[in-house]
Amino acid sequence: MTENNGKVWLITGCSSGFGRCLTNAALKKGDRVIATARQPEQLQHFTQEYPDTVKTISLDVTDKEQVKTAVEFAKETFGRIDVLVNNAGYALVAALEETSEEQMRQNFETNFFGAVNTIQAVLPILREQKAGVIVNMSAIAGFVNKVGFSIYGATKFAIEGVSEALRGEVGPLGIKVIIVEPGPFRTDFINRSLVKVEPQNQDYAKTCGKFISVLENMEGKQPGDPDLAAEVIIQAVEAKKPPLRLVLGKYAYKTFRQKIKSLTMELDGWEETAANTDFES
Ligand code: NAP
Repeated sequence: MTENNGKVWLITGCSSGFGRCLTNAALKKGDRVIATARQPEQLQHFTQEYPDTVKTISLDVTDKEQVKTAVEFAKETFGRIDVLVNNAGYALVAALEETSEEQMRQNFETNFFGAVNTIQAVLPILREQKAGVIVNMSAIAGFVNKVGFSIYGATKFAIEGVSEALRGEVGPLGIKVIIVEPGPFRTDFINRSLVKVEPQNQDYAKTCGKFISVLENMEGKQPGDPDLAAEVIIQAVEAKKPPLRLVLGKYAYKTFRQKIKSLTMELDGWEETAANTDFES
């Protein structure tokens, strides 16, 4: 076998959607992938097509032991990790008042602590290599949140906060950090990665209840193509200077720009008043 000089990827949540498309795109270009899933038997099609360049292992990101084992397996198998993709995640749509503490904590366990634990497990390897890229899958809701997504958006805002600081901590060590910000993409997300809590109180019918219907009606019609997203993520990973925030899709771009505009207007409107809170030195 000839030596493979391509990148080694460790990707979470490869059974469907972005994780599956990214695994496929990386393998197609000749890179090697440690593809992980809660049920790795769902990844057999990859091992059949790419027996030398993909290895699979069971990984539920909420299980710290499994995270450690998967990272060790990656290092033992391919000798290095060049790109970690924290993709595994799901959404919770519910009115905040009607969200149980357990539902909140579970969403944070997967979307936030799952990603952070994996980053901590991989960092010693990336530091030793003095190179690597950490890709954190956020969402448009991690920058511009919507009614019904209070907790889901909060998990993504949290990972964005970590990513911003982490970039400064590991950048000088040769490690890059990218936050991916997709708008609606045609994956299994609405179909099976969305925990829906129908409003109990009619006061939330026109906000959170309506948002559930909007999402359900969008199923199968989302504008974003996850295979094209995978290509752009690879392009960003390979860029000399990747963006901190990789915004994907026209809807996401429009929504980002609207928020930036309204933030600027708000800052301008209050600057003079609020700036007067400094001590006079
Ligand atoms: P998807 O097709 O439903 O994929 C979600 C993946 O996450 C599945 O592979 C699922 O695995 C995995 N997962 C969930 N909990 C897990 C856990 N505890 N441990 C390991 N894997 C777990 O949806 P997707 O759109 O590709 O979602 C991927 C990421 O993109 C998520 O972080 C999501 O928040 C983000 N995102 C999606 C959209 C969109 O419109 N599609 C927009 C913005 C952000 P199982 O097969 O085991 O359930």
